[in-house]
Amino acid sequence: MPGFDYDLFVIGGGSGGVRAARLAASLGKRVAIAEEYRFGGTCVIRGCVPKKLLVYASQYQEHFEDAAGFGWDVGPARLDWPRLTAARNAEVSRLESLYRKGLDASGAERIESRAELLGPHEVRIVADGRVVTAERILVATGAAPNRHPALPGHALCISSNEAFELETLPASMVILGGGYIAVEFANIFHGLGVEVTLVYRGKEILSRFDHDLRAGLHKAMQDKGITVLLSDVVEEVSRADEGQLQARTLHGRTLTAEVVMLALGREPNTAGLGLEAAGVDVDERGAIRVDGLSQTGVPSIYALGDVTDRVQLTPVAIHEAMCFIETVYRGNPTSPDHDLIPTAVFSQPEIGTVGLSEEAAAERFSELEIYRAQFRPMKATLSGRPETMLMKLVVDAASRRVVGAHVLGHDAGEMAQLLGIALKAGVRKDDFDRTMAVHPTAAEELVTMYSPSYRLRNGQRV
Ligand code: FAD
Repeated sequence: MPGFDYDLFVIGGGSGGVRAARLAASLGKRVAIAEEYRFGGTCVIRGCVPKKLLVYASQYQEHFEDAAGFGWDVGPARLDWPRLTAARNAEVSRLESLYRKGLDASGAERIESRAELLGPHEVRIVADGRVVTAERILVATGAAPNRHPALPGHALCISSNEAFELETLPASMVILGGGYIAVEFANIFHGLGVEVTLVYRGKEILSRFDHDLRAGLHKAMQDKGITVLLSDVVEEVSRADEGQLQARTLHGRTLTAEVVMLALGREPNTAGLGLEAAGVDVDERGAIRVDGLSQTGVPSIYALGDVTDRVQLTPVAIHEAMCFIETVYRGNPTSPDHDLIPTAVFSQPEIGTVGLSEEAAAERFSELEIYRAQFRPMKATLSGRPETMLMKLVVDAASRRVVGAHVLGHDAGEMAQLLGIALKAGVRKDDFDRTMAVHPTAAEELVTMYSPSYRLRNGQRV
């Protein structure tokens, strides 16, 4: 539209912002995208990608140990942390450059600066103070770790951001939190040889996940040697002697470790963004309020991804960006679909899950059939590793629909992706029953659980 410098100005070059900018530019729109740190955003630079690389790194110790059962003699293994860090950083930089190239190829203008709103159509580029105008503005600024400023000694602690920047691998670590980031890092650092203690205020790790997954993972972590302290809260962190920190808990524990990591949730990046000046509403957590089409109360301003605190996952931010493009530039109003999102926790063992937990399903359906199998995976027979896998299907007895599918064990995340397709298509238990098994796999258990393990009627086990 003449009169504006751009058709679309995107603030934030992460998963959601980059996808929206690229697609809009490739439709011929005049697009600019501002990023204050590194293009690629949390997922690429200090989230999913570097984390998964660390997950792989942390699994080798067990692989080396398991090899003996299969006849391999493996000499003493030693981790070279600086070498791992350098390799990981190189891969992150490679991906970052692909993001830049993708934007350039689409014709979007890349701006390496913080940007702030000045009004419904005005943005200030902080690096050079320029003020530009756009017909529409998309806020995709993501979220940042909660630094817990109320905790005495919080400045001594690291978050997941700094966990990727540790120059040396600590000998011991206390991690505060019980969500998926806390649990994943506890497993990563334990696998790398760090003595890990997890402290969580809840009664069990990973609230909102199925109770069998939560209890099963907790036990597996404890069996490996990770200390999991529940129903307790760290009240103060202070510096002790010789490079050690001390964390004092509500229940009188004093935990000593080289590093204390806070993994207490993520807060939408809205501070100082100029939302008030532009007239954009936020909720009590600072997340931007949007309607079903990701539009804020100011018609020219949209927001998506973690900054809206709907579901904080990369594929969700990307999906919301694609819906935004459909709605705004293709004349096809499309609401993001947040139902049945498959997801993984890259713990060891891994969790893969889609749909309702047994508890959530019991609140929605009067009668449920629960199919549950817990078994020793074939690999564990020769390796001798005392591990079990868990598979669980939650079925609405009336419609025979599978409303939840949960896996704990190797490759559970990979299975969740495929289970997600089936559940999205409305799969019924009978479809599982008439599907041929792939033998010998662990996943075949999903199609060979013919009789319910138990039923729930009005929430009660019968
Ligand atoms: P982001 O990717 O965070 O991008 C926002 C960008 O905006 C950032 O680059 C930021 O620097 C920039 N920015 C902020 N303010 C401004 C401003 N004023 N001006 C200019 N730029 C600004 N999700 C998964 O699906 N799977 C996983 O396994 C997974 N693992 C994770 C592990 C960790 C440790 C973390 C922290 C997150 C993980 N996530 C995972 C979540 C995932 O990273 C986010 O959901 C996703 O990145 C959200 O995308 P976004 O576009 O909303 O925001």
